[in-house]
Amino acid sequence: MRLFYRHDMCPQDEPGNYSKSPTKPRRFVEFLQRSPLWPHIALHDDFAAIRREDLLLAHTPAYVDAFLDGEPPLCESNGLRWSPAFRDSVLMTNGCLLAAITAANAEPQILTMAPVSGFHHAQPARGSGFCTFSGQVIAGLKLYRERGLRGAWVDLDGHFGNSIEDSRSFCPDLDQAIPVNLNPNGQHQQYLRDLEQKMTDLLARVAEGSIDYICVAHGADSHEWDQLGHQCTTEEWLRASEIVYGLIQGVRKERAIPVTLALFGGYRDDHPESVLGLHAMDTALAMAHLEQRPALLDYQAEVRAPGQFR
Ligand SMILES: [Zn+2]
Repeated sequence: MRLFYRHDMCPQDEPGNYSKSPTKPRRFVEFLQRSPLWPHIALHDDFAAIRREDLLLAHTPAYVDAFLDGEPPLCESNGLRWSPAFRDSVLMTNGCLLAAITAANAEPQILTMAPVSGFHHAQPARGSGFCTFSGQVIAGLKLYRERGLRGAWVDLDGHFGNSIEDSRSFCPDLDQAIPVNLNPNGQHQQYLRDLEQKMTDLLARVAEGSIDYICVAHGADSHEWDQLGHQCTTEEWLRASEIVYGLIQGVRKERAIPVTLALFGGYRDDHPESVLGLHAMDTALAMAHLEQRPALLDYQAEVRAPGQFR
């Protein structure tokens, strides 16, 4: 797997922030380096920050400039403390996502990953819910306008990914650029049934040739022990990953559909490693299915119950 990461994607820790997601790329990469997954991962840092003109594809000039210049209140409408370093990290995580999706489309047989979050609640004129800019929309529009590529997002974060839907009237060709924004409904077995049905529908569109690439973000806040989550037990959460990657691999035998992974949410102040462990197990399942590495099916990381004796 190609993992797109550079150190300047992460600002320093801001003690006042509820969300620790801005530093998650660094903490996730360090977690992977200590895991048995690392020998199968190639690090790529040859990408650049996104530019103002790219942000304007999905956002109003008033919002873009308020964030770039650090003007309150809009620059903190995402719920995160603004600093020049944070601004620069946001531009870099958006560039990271674009680079990872672009690379997967260039070499569809290679799985790519952008270890990023902070996109799927952003709106055209403001940030929201720890999300600053709609990185999915920006990358999707660039790939569609420059190369005619049409993408699908499989968003398994615990919260509905509204940024794509909220941008459809602002960006008229987004319906062509990202026709599918798959978010499962329900909890537990109902959630898994809904996911399987929606994945089957998506892959029918892949087979007929109307979707060119798939992005998957398995947010860890759809886990029942997450501070902001409730949908799935650990077993069900991993089963969701199995459903997604197993079904995609079934189609990839016929057609090498490009796949890019991202992280999205996950909040465990009591044990942040549980969030990283879930993301790592999801990544292992993606690699096991999409890169035919069956040994990685057995990879396990700790997911600690809240209040569990240390
Ligand atoms: Zn979330």
